[in-house]
This record gives sequence, structure tokens and C-alpha cells, in this order.
Amino acid sequence: MTKKIVVVGGGVGGVASSLMLADEIRSNRLDAEVLLVSKSEHHYMPPLWLDVAVDGLDVEKTRAPLRGVEYYGVKTLIDEVVSIDLAEREIATRSGRRISYDYLLIALGTVNGWSEYPGLEEAGWHNYDPESARAFNRAIKTFRGGRIVVLVPELPHRCGIYPLEITTLLAHYYKVKGVKVDIKYVAPRSMLGYHPLDILGPDIGRLAREILEGYGVEVIVHKGLERVDPEKRVVVTKDAEIEYDMLVKVPPPRLPPLLRSPDFQLGDDKRFTRIRTPHFQHPEYDEVYLTGEHSMKPAGLGLAGVFVHFASIRAASMILEDLGSVYSLYDYPPVHCVAYIGNGGLIGSCEVTYDEGKGHYRWNDRCYVTLRGPMVKILKRTFYMSWLGRLRFPHAPKPSLRELGVEAHGG
Ligand SMILES: Cc1cc2nc3c(=O)[nH]c(=O)nc-3n(C[C@H](O)[C@H](O)[C@H](O)COP(=O)(O)OP(=O)(O)OC[C@H]3O[C@@H](n4cnc5c(N)ncnc54)[C@H](O)[C@@H]3O)c2cc1C
Repeated sequence: MTKKIVVVGGGVGGVASSLMLADEIRSNRLDAEVLLVSKSEHHYMPPLWLDVAVDGLDVEKTRAPLRGVEYYGVKTLIDEVVSIDLAEREIATRSGRRISYDYLLIALGTVNGWSEYPGLEEAGWHNYDPESARAFNRAIKTFRGGRIVVLVPELPHRCGIYPLEITTLLAHYYKVKGVKVDIKYVAPRSMLGYHPLDILGPDIGRLAREILEGYGVEVIVHKGLERVDPEKRVVVTKDAEIEYDMLVKVPPPRLPPLLRSPDFQLGDDKRFTRIRTPHFQHPEYDEVYLTGEHSMKPAGLGLAGVFVHFASIRAASMILEDLGSVYSLYDYPPVHCVAYIGNGGLIGSCEVTYDEGKGHYRWNDRCYVTLRGPMVKILKRTFYMSWLGRLRFPHAPKPSLRELGVEAHGG
């Protein structure tokens, strides 16, 4: 009987895994099908929301129709999954559908936990959703100068290099515009005790320090955020009170509501899911894989699309192997963190290894800078645009041979 693979979540992990699964099912003529279920009709590329905030990029350019995956053989259902019955191998959706599966892959990202700290929700600006990115863009354009605080309430957070990106982009923007700003980068140490600039390793940390010094940015390491007072415009941490004229905030990551149950939630850190490494399987159900951002920290990985992408491909390769594909099991390659820095960018590469003894991946002690300069900015935007283009292209009207500059010669 045809095996049914259900993928929940149409973001980075869901799209990367379902495209690979469908491709391999077709080339290996496997008796299986892939259904991608997501609550949004759009597939978003969240890193581009930074371009919306700083460069005024149209939000439309940060997304593509999720149904574009159908062109590649993936079935889609736009619906919210409201429950997962692991014992019965069945999911239920908001519209009342019940869908059974042989394999289930879950990639639901994380949600922004603004309400975790008093005042954080009401205060400041961010680009962690498209509408807020648009509003942030208006605030950036009309800011007349003063103190900017880039606040990281806790670690880890979505995209480890993001605070460095936004800090240097704003520093560069106001420098060119001739607007006087005093920028403070306010962040805690990691749970393992790393300085916030060293979370991507000492090599990238050294460069980050030099870059921030060059822009005159002060780094303040805090001992825990207590609250933000939007009226008085002050950030209150356990060891300092820092005033601001503009606040840029990074969200504390929280588990998507669907996964907040003992079946999925990690006991000692409720922000993340329980998983079995190295293949990102559910601890009790071999046929269930959790490869979204919610599962990266328990695997020892960072909360970033690059890690989610490779975890999802790895899990997909396990499913394919189980189905009898000739696809070889996917090992962990180095990941590349591509960041906008000021008017250019940098690529930090991290070698990922698996520590059998500890049962998790290691990466941040093996990161180094591989490329720096203006070209990186073009490279980053082009990569994300072409990723989205893959889903848009099937819907675009096909150009005629004449438009392509090809003349028909009969036959
Ligand atoms: C501003 C910003 C900048 C970033 N920059 C970078 C970067 O430079 N490099 C990098 O590697 N990463 C970056 N990231 C992180 C990266 O975008 C995420 O790690 C990645 O998108 C997570 O993938 P995911 O598949 O787990 O979730 P997402 O891509 O967030 O997708 C989750 C999907 O699940 C769907 N969904 C949620 N709940 C349900 C439900 N109950 N039923 C059905 N569907 C549901 C959503 O609609 C969505 O389609 C950035 C993120 C942000 C926000």
C-alpha cells in the first residue's frame, strides 16, 4: 500500500524536506506520497524581513505561494493542525479533517514570546514578522537620532547573528545619513557561559568585536532582563537600567502551541521539544521526526534556518532509506551563516560533528570566517530570492520561444 508521509509546517524545514522526499520518490519509483499541511498559504523566507525593515523591501518579495511545491509532486493542504495522536498515527486540523500517516515530519518554527517579560510586547521595534518589519522601516526612516538599544532578552534566540546584523546595518545607515546615534548592544551570556559575541565561536566573536568597535557600539552584558518600561523608555535588567530613544528587540523563542503537551515538550526546558538524536526522531515513536527550530537546541544546534534545513534533509533521508531508496543517508556537512554587516556582509562557516558520548551535535567551537565584503550581501539576498523563485516559477506564464530569443526551425 502507498506509504503516506505527512509534513506539518510550510516553512524552511517543511518545504526543504517535502521537496527532497517527492524528488526521491519520483526518481526511485517508490510507492509513497507526500502531503504538506500548513496554516499559511505562503511560504516565507524570514531572513528577508530584515531587508523589509532596513531597505524597505516589499513584503511580497519575502514569500511565495506554498502551492508551488505541487509542481514538484508534493500535495498540499492549507489548514491548521490542532492535534496529533501519536498512538493512532493521525493528525486533526482546524477544518475538521483527520489525516493518517505512516511517517510524520514536524517543522513549526518557534513563536515570539514577547509576553514573557513585562513591557516587552508594547515597547520598541522588531522585524520578526512581516507587518512589524514594515512598521520598523517607517520608524528607522523617521528617527532623528539619539540612543538606540538592541536588546537580546535571552539566549538562544532565532538566528544567532541577527543582533550583530541589525546593529551594524543601523550604524551604517545613520552614519551615511549623518544622523548622530549612540548604539548599545545589550545581551546576556549563554547558558554555557559564553560572552554574547562568542556564541558563534571565538573567530567570529573577535571580528564582531572589531566591527562593533569600528562603529562605536558599546556591548553591555546583562544578568537577566526584568522588564521594559515603554513610558519612561528604559530597559531594566538585574544589574542595570538603560535608557533608550529607539528600542530594537529580539524575541524570546517559545514552543508553538501545538507542541505544548507532555508528548512533545522537553521537561527541563519547556521552550523546546523532546527528540532523539542524531536523527531528530520522537523519543518513543520512530516514524515521527521533529526537525523545526523547536528541536535545534535539544540537538545541540543553533536556532537558525541553516540548521533546520539540514536536520530536515537528514530526517527525510532516514524516511527514504526506510522506504527502500538508494539515496544514501545524509551526514552532517559544515553550515554557513551568511550575515549582513554594515554595507557588506560576512560568511561564518561552522563544522558540525556529532558527539556520541553526549548524544548531541557540536558546532560553535569550530566556526571561522570564510568570506567578508560587499559581495556577501548580494549573495545572501540572491540565495533567498532564488529559493522563493523555485515556488513562484511554476505559476508564471511560460515565456514563448521568441521571448527566450529562440527561433523555431520546423520539425
Ligand atoms: C528576522 C529573522 C532573520 C533570520 N535570519 C536567518 C539567517 O540569516 N539565517 C538562518 O539560517 N536563519 C535565519 N532565521 C531563522 C530561520 O528563519 C528559522 O530558523 C527557520 O525559518 C525555521 O524553520 P522552521 O521550518 O522550523 O519554521 P518556519 O520557517 O518558521 O515555518 C513554520 C511553519 O509552520 C506553520 N505552522 C505553524 N503552526 C502550524 C500549525 N499548527 N498547523 C499548520 N502549520 C503551522 C507556519 O505557518 C509556517 O509555515 C531568521 C529568522 C528571522 C525571524
